[in-house]
Amino acid sequence: MIPAMNQNAMSDVAARLAAVRDRIREAEQTHGREPGSVELLAVSKRQPLDAMQTAYEAGQRAFGENYLQEGVDKRQTMTATDIDWHFIGALQSNKTRPAAEGFDWVHAVDRLKIARRLSEQRPETLGPLQCCIQVNVSGEASKAGVSPQALPELAHAVAELPRLRLRGLMTLPEAVTGFEAQRAAFSQLRQLQDALIADGLALDTLSMGMSNDLEAAIAEGATLVRLGTAVFGPRPEKTS
Ligand SMILES: *Cc1c(COP(=O)(O)O)cnc(C)c1O
Repeated sequence: MIPAMNQNAMSDVAARLAAVRDRIREAEQTHGREPGSVELLAVSKRQPLDAMQTAYEAGQRAFGENYLQEGVDKRQTMTATDIDWHFIGALQSNKTRPAAEGFDWVHAVDRLKIARRLSEQRPETLGPLQCCIQVNVSGEASKAGVSPQALPELAHAVAELPRLRLRGLMTLPEAVTGFEAQRAAFSQLRQLQDALIADGLALDTLSMGMSNDLEAAIAEGATLVRLGTAVFGPRPEKTS
């Protein structure tokens, strides 16, 4: 089980959230982005429910989870109905159903087989599942994501699926230091997105940027930054 938090840790979450929001607003201003055009996705994997509740009370509405069962359990326990639940973890094609039924967004679609299953399994009682395609811009063999070369064909096929709504692209680039080096990978994702838009796809989401590179991502057009430890502090160790 994930342990509960003490009072100190709860005020820490509220303070960290405020600091992170300031960082995002400042980056928007520095890089000529519209105020409020970058949304914070609070990555709550392995974080206790009371930490999420504290973030919710401080106005946070978008939460990102990496593990299907944990995310589904949390959704059933958190009573608020105005939360957007994002699944940002890797998807196996035999485990798409909990993602299709239990989340509002899926960020890491990288194969047509998975997209088709998500579309088939998305309940009619829910709206379309919001999706991003994960792109492996740095070309690391160990990273998930479609190659830039294979992206256009996949994106057009995913955009046709009836129960999905393709919103944009997501990347998790190689960790590099230095603003310009970080910016290069994000620039590539933005250019890939621009090419798809020029080719007729209606895309509005770039899911890119984490705690140590969110400024570079915002400079290149991120609309959703995914921050975990910057909001909640260190993740508790996995106990199972
Ligand atoms: C865990 C995770 C994050 C957040 O990472 P932090 O280092 O905690 O900010 C963002 N995106 C993905 C895909 C993740 O798995």
